[in-house]
Amino acid sequence: MNLVIFGPPGAGKGTQSKFIANKFNLHQLSTGDLLREEIKNKTILGSKISEIINKGELVSDEIVSDLIEKFISNKNFENRLIFDGFPRNIEQAINLNNLLKKYNQKIDIVLKLSVSLKTIKKRILERQMQENRSDDSEEIAIKRFETYEKSTEPVIEYYKKSKLLKVINGEGSIDEINVEISDIIEGI
Ligand code: ADP
Repeated sequence: MNLVIFGPPGAGKGTQSKFIANKFNLHQLSTGDLLREEIKNKTILGSKISEIINKGELVSDEIVSDLIEKFISNKNFENRLIFDGFPRNIEQAINLNNLLKKYNQKIDIVLKLSVSLKTIKKRILERQMQENRSDDSEEIAIKRFETYEKSTEPVIEYYKKSKLLKVINGEGSIDEINVEISDIIEGI
């Protein structure tokens, strides 16, 4: 099973992806984590990425597609991937479909975590205190939310058409959301 998890910044995608990965023996593939890893390694690519992330904008589709292909082509992860934070625009959704086709795979389920802007702001400010992520300031967080609404929300319509989409109320507790997601996956 390959799964896509969507939601605005701070929706809890990472937390839920980790839970699903453990419970169903899948591999969490977070493009945000991969990009932060590049920055940490202080590569030339990393410094370009850092500039974009700290503006709250999207890194180029080419960079993220290259990162993703390494995992899709890896036999160890075949039909075991959770795409966390990817695709983030229509072009990336099309790239993902093409890449999966190339390696004889497909998406089996798309989960969307729905959360209000008020909750997002609260969670991001809490996370900033714990993790000190450079893009978690209030100003950049608002920009990230705008980027999400403009570029990523349309991808949801794209998946609605293919009937893969399940919407989950992301306002509940971590445990409540765990249960809701498990029920959906077990019901496939
Ligand atoms: P969040 O969803 O909470 O904003 P992420 O860790 O998923 O956090 O992403 C952090 C930043 O990394 C994004 O704001 C964006 O700049 C960049 N990024 C992550 N995934 C992608 C992607 N698929 N395409 C382009 N940029 C991305």
